[in-house]
Amino acid sequence: MNSSKADSKGRTFKFQAEVQRILDILINRLYKNQEIFLRELISNSADALHRMRIAQLETKDPILDPNAELGIKITFDEDENTLTVSDTGIGMTYKEIRTNLGTIAQSGTLEFLQQLEDSPDAINLIGEFGVGFYSAFIVAKEIIVRSRSYPEDSRGVEWRSDGSGKFSIAYIDKPERGTEVILYLKDDAKEFANRFKLESIIKKYSDFVGFPIRIGDDDQIVNRQVPIWYQSDEVTDEEFNEFYRQVSLDWTEPFHRIHLSVDAPIQFRALLFLPNQRNRMMMTSMYQDYGLRLYSKKILVQEKAKDLLPEYLRFVFGVVDSEDLPLNVSREVIQVDRTIRRISKVITGKILDELEKVADENEDKFLSWWAQFGVFIKEGITQDEKRRKNLLRILRIQTSKSGDQLISLTKYIERMPKEQEEIMYLLGENLAILKRSPHLEYYEKLDQEVILFDDPIDSFVMMHVQEFQDKKFKPIDQAEPAKDKEEEMAEKEEKEEEPEKDSFLTHIKELLGDRIIDIRYTEFLTDSPCRLVNPSGTATFTRVLKYMDENYVPQKKIMEINANHPLITHLKTLVEKEPESPLIQTCALQLLENQELAEGTLQDPTEMVKRVNQLMQQVLNKSRK
Ligand code: ADP
Repeated sequence: MNSSKADSKGRTFKFQAEVQRILDILINRLYKNQEIFLRELISNSADALHRMRIAQLETKDPILDPNAELGIKITFDEDENTLTVSDTGIGMTYKEIRTNLGTIAQSGTLEFLQQLEDSPDAINLIGEFGVGFYSAFIVAKEIIVRSRSYPEDSRGVEWRSDGSGKFSIAYIDKPERGTEVILYLKDDAKEFANRFKLESIIKKYSDFVGFPIRIGDDDQIVNRQVPIWYQSDEVTDEEFNEFYRQVSLDWTEPFHRIHLSVDAPIQFRALLFLPNQRNRMMMTSMYQDYGLRLYSKKILVQEKAKDLLPEYLRFVFGVVDSEDLPLNVSREVIQVDRTIRRISKVITGKILDELEKVADENEDKFLSWWAQFGVFIKEGITQDEKRRKNLLRILRIQTSKSGDQLISLTKYIERMPKEQEEIMYLLGENLAILKRSPHLEYYEKLDQEVILFDDPIDSFVMMHVQEFQDKKFKPIDQAEPAKDKEEEMAEKEEKEEEPEKDSFLTHIKELLGDRIIDIRYTEFLTDSPCRLVNPSGTATFTRVLKYMDENYVPQKKIMEINANHPLITHLKTLVEKEPESPLIQTCALQLLENQELAEGTLQDPTEMVKRVNQLMQQVLNKSRK
């Protein structure tokens, strides 16, 4: 073995600044789980082996060691304190080794550095940020990488560094294809030059790596090789969770795991995880970093296959492996592939079924998940017409009677009084406003429950939903639909005796001008003097417009009056006795703007403040007399 002293031959290069920053952190900190370095080196080797397998299929030029077994070998020397990970993978050329082990290709490094600064546990994620190799500096004071690329006419190269700013590269004689990473272990990492230790780390992290791993010159293979999604009984929760960590970058436990093996009509296996916590990125439409890992016969076909699940399920992590899929399929083919579409159908259905099951079995657990992910289900309701029914069963709602606990639509229907025929709902800015809304009074009196929707997405949801379990949804802040002709005629006849037009309403309408569409009496109020309703059939759509158009001007509404309210009866008396009194207009405007204020649609509060001050002045003047 070469000496660990700096080599005089070859050229010296400086690490890219970001790499050096990572190295400084890795070298100077003490980590609880130093051992992850081995997982990273093995994973790099497995990657190189995987690429070798593909190169064997695709390359026409002569290949070095064409018959060498694709595998990984780990050797150690207890006296020298060295540990070597070697593979018969694709290897690296001079140029490749220089860029691969000196610069960082992936973005997100800064994000990783930040996480590492905040919490040392984030070291676990090092491989996912494309800098796994450098984790070897947690245990090594010097590293030598010897590599030879796979074409027959390639040359061997040697890279070495002690992690302090620079690395050197030189050409060497290396007869075999592949890469050899030699670690000179730090004094506090000598324990890794030990067979038992190495074996237990490999079992823990790399058991399912798809290539044989051997220790020393022993022929015995240490790892199981079979991917985790091909196993069932023998895998522990811990092993599944470790796998989840790798695919999700989330080091908390998953919310739910789905393990599927389907044979007909298509053959496939899937191992899917629903997270407990959503990450910020998932929320934006810019988030493109989702997708399941797609394998064909254990070989990775696509890292982030977006076509396996509808977009609203973009929070799901996992793998799908199908024997019915060709190995080299392009993105374009995947998009239209029938097998993919059928797999997608099955796993989407399964995910929704499982969610429904968890919701039934463990309400508290489900509700805390819902708080994070409910918005994705709502997005699904707006997009996925075929599964809308299933999604509606998962939907959880706040109602005028549900208190702090959300309930399901099924439960809402169970609780409906016999005479109630429709599912009542109200859209609004926030729960506080909704709970005080005058629209609720009528239903409270009838002991009927009203769904309170306070999220902007809810109005989009209600644009797409007409009914659930044969019950129609009905917004309660909307005028009753116009009666058909016959009904109208019948009513007119009945009313013949009554005066043509109510002079009070006409008077108020005149004073309010075009601030309202119309004015009329209503039976839907008990405690409030008036309310504002949308013209029939427009309540939901109006709200959607509000969120879609930034120049949105609030739509005018119909004012409905509670004839029995003392404020109204007094105002009526005033109109009869003193029709010219300026107080009438002041009161009419104030009634209107009180409602607008409560609903968050008041355009200009300054006039209102002046008016309230005037009113107070008048009251005070009176009380002094
Ligand atoms: P990542 O593997 O996530 O890209 P690393 O820092 O671990 O990041 O490795 C950087 C690059 O170095 C790899 O992408 C790969 O091209 C190359 N590399 C590392 N180890 C090997 C190996 N054993 N054989 C061939 N190439 C390797």
